[in-house]
Amino acid sequence: MSHLLEVKDLKKHFPLKRSWLGASTGRVHAVDGVSFHVERGETLSLVGESGCGKSTVGRSILRLFDLTEGEVRLDGERIDNLSPRQLRPVRQKLQVVFQDPFASLNPRLTVREALAEPISNFESGVTSEAMQSRVDKLLDLVRLPRDAGRRYPHEFSGGQRQRICIARALASKPKLVICDEAVSALDVSVKAQIVNLLQDLQDELGLALLFISHDLGIVEHMTHRVAVMYLGRIVEQGTAQRIFAAPKHPYTQALLSAAPGNAKAGKRIVLKGDVPSPVTPPQGCHFHTRCPYAFDRCRVEAPRLENQGDGHLAACHLQALPV
Ligand code: SF4
Repeated sequence: MSHLLEVKDLKKHFPLKRSWLGASTGRVHAVDGVSFHVERGETLSLVGESGCGKSTVGRSILRLFDLTEGEVRLDGERIDNLSPRQLRPVRQKLQVVFQDPFASLNPRLTVREALAEPISNFESGVTSEAMQSRVDKLLDLVRLPRDAGRRYPHEFSGGQRQRICIARALASKPKLVICDEAVSALDVSVKAQIVNLLQDLQDELGLALLFISHDLGIVEHMTHRVAVMYLGRIVEQGTAQRIFAAPKHPYTQALLSAAPGNAKAGKRIVLKGDVPSPVTPPQGCHFHTRCPYAFDRCRVEAPRLENQGDGHLAACHLQALPV
């Protein structure tokens, strides 16, 4: 059986604005050859610092813009080359929850109307009684009272609004939900409640989640696998257990050493310099300008993402050296 989601060599480059002389001023290499898959009912977390390209990966899968190169398959079907009309049935299976719940909801629609909208977009002939019961069921699923349906988004707290966005994403009965920094704007305690809710929904509905986050602390307790991104590329990928217990890539080691509340972290690794510009990413290993272990080969040859055992992948020349 095919993977639920399969992303192969995805590249997304954005052209920079032209100069006043009309010459192109380069391209932002936001995503530079990323491959991964998500299984049915699984959570894969895509993590990395802001600007590493993780949200661009999510938006490319959603086809909010066209890919520069690569393939995306959902349920075995290639979706990166579909027309907007052909994408309609795909959108039923693939939904998203963004970071800002207020911006995602129409302030003029009651919660009931906001939840009914995707149902009537994807299904025809739903009677008003059936619609009422579907909306009630969605409110139950996200643990909101049924009378919440009569109210407007501004009457809710940030956490409650995010529950409404999750209910709206679930209205079309998707197989995969992309959570793009979906808990980043929430208070710590509310964050934990929403993460618990997502885990419960996954168990209840068999949902798959692509959880995009810069917050490694949140990811550790809710994800099955992790893919770590740096400057448009995946540098490490594996089960949460392996990545958090024994990270192999120097960048992942640095990220984990800085994660708040990470009891397993040893001494904090402070990386030198800033993340280089994605307009002119460094040759060879993108991380070599900040890596404490960089050697000559790193500056000329990009390391491949290779299996280090049991499906734990890392892109680092050090892992290929004989011990
Ligand atoms: Fe560091 Fe070289 Fe490994 Fe890149 S390939 S992470 S620069 S040691």
